[in-house]
Amino acid sequence: DNAQPKKPKWIRVKAPTGEGYNATKKIMRENKLVTVCEEAGCPNAGECWSQGHATMMIMGEICTRGCTFCNIATGKPDGLDAFEPGRVAMAVQKLGLNHVVITSVDRDDLDDGGAEHFAQTIRAVRHRSPKTTIEILTPDFLKAKPGALEIVVEAKPDVFNHNLETVPGLYLEVRPGARYFHSLRLLQRVKELDPSIFTKSGIMVGLGEKAPEVKQVMDDMRAADVDFLTIGQYLQPTPKHHGVDRFVTPEEFESYEKSAYGKGFLMVSATPLTRSSYHAGDDFARLRDA
Ligand code: SF4
Ligand code: SF4
Repeated sequence: DNAQPKKPKWIRVKAPTGEGYNATKKIMRENKLVTVCEEAGCPNAGECWSQGHATMMIMGEICTRGCTFCNIATGKPDGLDAFEPGRVAMAVQKLGLNHVVITSVDRDDLDDGGAEHFAQTIRAVRHRSPKTTIEILTPDFLKAKPGALEIVVEAKPDVFNHNLETVPGLYLEVRPGARYFHSLRLLQRVKELDPSIFTKSGIMVGLGEKAPEVKQVMDDMRAADVDFLTIGQYLQPTPKHHGVDRFVTPEEFESYEKSAYGKGFLMVSATPLTRSSYHAGDDFARLRDA
């Protein structure tokens, strides 16, 4: 049964247009960069792009995993493009970003899971834009050789984000190929390796999870010393993807946010349209300047 609950009024998405939007788009095209904003059909693209915020996706457009919520194609990816880190750095400079979010597909085909490519990208951005804060949103490096995570951490991103995506009970259905405790441990390990890096994680809700399970995930994240949390409503990218179980109300989101602050997260974003990278820069600047 593909019947989906009707979109409530609080899920309103404005069509992406405007001068700022087009300017961002042009810089991305010129530098042959892929953005997750477009690939995932993110509902915030209009707002983010008109303000010069965008999340760049490195290491290609084909993923070795097939998460059931995700609109990225699954298959055998192409080889890495050695010039990509330089192009990302160029785009970040042209956009004049204060904060950049860089993510990637999962690369189980590479020995290091793409760790060195991530590190090179961080270094290239740092070199051209030393004042820009860098947030990376990484895959889980589950199949990478030992030491891969260390390579990324040594490049010193300001924020290391890795999403748990959902509650453990839904992993097989939603995130096959990933392991809940592996992802949690990855976040904990980043903090152990370099406590000066902020760690961040997030989940989608409306996939069939129950509130106590969400609270448990928060506790698990805090036990792994995760600093920032995002929670947003899952939206089905196409009818072939995992269905929306329900639309979580704005009041429920508020209550999640309250619990999360109570549990000690430094920064929490929990609203229907929250995405992992939504307002990431503003929030981070506020925290840093506090
Ligand atoms: Fe892109 Fe993130 Fe903004 Fe969505 S929320 S448009 S993915 S920067
Ligand atoms: Fe999508 Fe990431 Fe899953 Fe790949 S690993 S299918 S990019 S969510």
